Amino acid sequence: MNLLEILNRSEFSKDEILYLLSLENKDELTLLFSKARAVKQLYLGRFRSKIASIQFSNNCENNCLYCELREDNISKQRFRMQPDEILQK
Ligand code: SF4
Repeated sequence: MNLLEILNRSEFSKDEILYLLSLENKDELTLLFSKARAVKQLYLGRFRSKIASIQFSNNCENNCLYCELREDNISKQRFRMQPDEILQK
């Protein structure tokens, strides 16, 4: 695959994405990151955002085996904040 050819497209195929994720060569990575910065600049300009999340509950009705929050994990102490508690955060 040709890195420059791929980076000049606006959409990538699955194989191209896998190729980009597998890059290890320093020059190729520099090129990839440079392109990523240019795309980010194009869409976001100099805007910088700060994002924070509030975990207002740790209840979950799913059972993903790797997750301590899974419903069947009865050893996990559960909480759910009230609306006024969330607004105070
Ligand atoms: S990863 Fe955890 S919190 Fe997320 S859905 Fe699965 S069990 Fe729930």
